[in-house]
Amino acid sequence: MSTSYKERIARRLTGVTALLFLCVFILIYLVANFTVVRNIDRDLDLEIEKHQDELVIANGKISFLHSNEWEEMEHSQIQLNPIFIEIVDVEGKSMDRSPNLREFHLSFLPQKSHTEEAWTQKLGSREVRQRQIPLVNSGKIEGYLLLAKSFEDARELLDNLRNVLLVIYPILLITLYLSMRYLAGKSIEPLEKISQKTNQITQQNLGERVPDLGTNDEIGQLTLAINSLLGRLEQAMQREKQFTSDASHELRTPLSVLRGTLEVLIRKERSASEYEEKIKTALGSIDRMSAMLDQLLALARVENGKNLVQEELELITFLEELADKFSSEQQQRITFQSLVGMPIYVRTQEKSLEMILTNLSENAVKYSEGKEGIFLRVGKKDKAFIEVEDAGSGINPEHLEKIFDPFFREKEALDKGIPGTGLGLAIVKKLAEESAIQLSVTSKKNKGSIFKLEFSPSS
Ligand code: ADP
Repeated sequence: MSTSYKERIARRLTGVTALLFLCVFILIYLVANFTVVRNIDRDLDLEIEKHQDELVIANGKISFLHSNEWEEMEHSQIQLNPIFIEIVDVEGKSMDRSPNLREFHLSFLPQKSHTEEAWTQKLGSREVRQRQIPLVNSGKIEGYLLLAKSFEDARELLDNLRNVLLVIYPILLITLYLSMRYLAGKSIEPLEKISQKTNQITQQNLGERVPDLGTNDEIGQLTLAINSLLGRLEQAMQREKQFTSDASHELRTPLSVLRGTLEVLIRKERSASEYEEKIKTALGSIDRMSAMLDQLLALARVENGKNLVQEELELITFLEELADKFSSEQQQRITFQSLVGMPIYVRTQEKSLEMILTNLSENAVKYSEGKEGIFLRVGKKDKAFIEVEDAGSGINPEHLEKIFDPFFREKEALDKGIPGTGLGLAIVKKLAEESAIQLSVTSKKNKGSIFKLEFSPSS
């Protein structure tokens, strides 16, 4: 697991958070920068207002009204909050300037003369925020007042903020990545346990289950789902085992009969009639085995799910023809009855339905033991339905569920020697399930049985 799940989660979350923090940090820096610059610019505006009133413009000459006071004042402020002032003529030539400028001059930018904006520039080695405003006398521009305020403190503040953010950023991301990795690892720990346990479960220990942590979250639901899958697999395996052992048992019986018969035959010479009789018994066993193999094949074919194509079928005509066919094939009258006068259409697989009804009617004939009263009935209430009714031996109530299990035969059928494999109803059940036909049975001992097929409304 080189790029494990926890690694991927940690990377993705850290990636997203990194972007988010980057945006937040840039925003913090921009807001701080904007606020600091706006405060300095506001101070500059105040200073401009203040100093504009102190200027005297006469005969093209601009000077300060209280030059001495102003110089004093500026001297006293020089260290604390220096404001640099310079007066230039229209060409930008210096006319006067504050002493704190020393050997420097504020730069006059003609293109900024008519804007209210301040800008940041260098004054010697230090950074200042500067504004310039035209000095107008009788509607004529006589010169410009240039005012600058140190940007040093603000720059230091902004640089510090930037440095702090730059240091915090990677530390935050590394911490975040490590904690996400740890937390993601912790949250998928139960999954690792589940997969470990699942890998240990094989056909030999299918009875074991994944430990349930008792939580009702996604992991708890996954555990339940895996355990119920294991349960279904275990049942299916058991059914499979049971089926194989039943099938071999059922095939062994006629094989033993066959072997016994043949052994008796070769032991000594027999009369022709004895040979004939023994060979008939042997052929009977072979017939039984091939009937069983045919039914096993039929069952396997249904389980392969090959009979899924459904088409529209009109039941009355279909069943009427089928009843006639069965009657002649099985040499017993099977009476067709329709409880409605209108045609009944269903969507189903005709071959499957025919196979189901063949099995049911064969049973009806077999277990009626010659008694009349076999009906193939069709009707429609909420759903279309077919009934196969007989007045035969009936089924013991406690066997009503079991008769659909492969190889189950009632003792009475065995005792009476009624031929059969015990696979017919198992095939019927599979076919009905596959075609979404609801199958049910009602029966009364020695009165008879009714097998009912109900079609779902969409079919
Ligand atoms: P088979 O008929 O080959 O024995 P089935 O699977 O068709 O196998 O039937 C299983 C068992 O159910 C039968 O052995 C019989 O005991 C009982 N059974 C099925 N159909 C009927 C019926 N119409 N009347 C009485 N018993 C029945």
